[in-house]
Amino acid sequence: GPIVHLAGVSKRYGSISALDSADLLIERGELLAVVGPSGSGKSTLLNIIGTLARPTAGSLEIDGYDVAGLSDRELSALRARTIGFVFQQFHLAPGVPALDIVADGLLYGGKQRGYRRREAERALRRVGLGHRLQHLPHQLSGGEQQRVAVARAVLGDPPLLMADEPTGNLDSVSGAAVMDLLRELHGGGTTVVIITHDRDIASVLPREVRLKDGKIAEEVRR
Ligand code: ADP
Ligand code: ADP
Repeated sequence: GPIVHLAGVSKRYGSISALDSADLLIERGELLAVVGPSGSGKSTLLNIIGTLARPTAGSLEIDGYDVAGLSDRELSALRARTIGFVFQQFHLAPGVPALDIVADGLLYGGKQRGYRRREAERALRRVGLGHRLQHLPHQLSGGEQQRVAVARAVLGDPPLLMADEPTGNLDSVSGAAVMDLLRELHGGGTTVVIITHDRDIASVLPREVRLKDGKIAEEVRR
């Protein structure tokens, strides 16, 4: 079945309708952009799909699980094994080597230090940073810092990667490198959802979901 299925999903904040009756099916292995002006509901949609916020109406299935039937604890466990997140801000702990930043992503999984470090090294090699294991964030370029964040997100190979403006803080060259990396992960079978303001990025992806005033206004497939 699909990795993400929203049927009539709404999210209200008091009197504000941040997301209004959204229907969205994302099949395993898709690569798609979510676009729309500021305030159109992109972050809300990311939070809902990412199981960071619960819908106020409608049904949401992630990886075959009906989210409404899960406790907060079960939802956290589902999120941890299913979804990796990348944000516009890299959120890398200052003064901590890249290898440890990524390895720390496994701290709560009960795995031993040796295992965590091996997995972190594998993830950093995967994003082309095998030569930067001991570098501190400030010794890395913006593009490299975002690739460390991507390495942390793909630890444990979650089937779904959610990226919120992943190139928003990067120059066009490093932004293109991060997009190449996301495409590569998609090529390896990961479902990748990219939230972006950047038309140049969205217009070359196979699918675009366009939001307007909290509604899915249009879909484009190429
Ligand atoms: P976008 O990411 O496209 O800028 P958002 O999803 O952040 O849009 O916001 C959609 C609408 O919902 C906006 O009107 C925003 O102000 C409102 N909104 C989002 N989150 C909250 C919240 N936590 N509390 C109140 N209003 C919110
Ligand atoms: P973006 O840069 O993606 O458009 P926003 O700045 O709209 O993101 O939102 C960033 C975060 O703040 C989101 O998690 C969103 O839910 C929350 N948010 C947005 N609008 C409001 C609001 N009016 N009140 C409270 N939280 C909000």
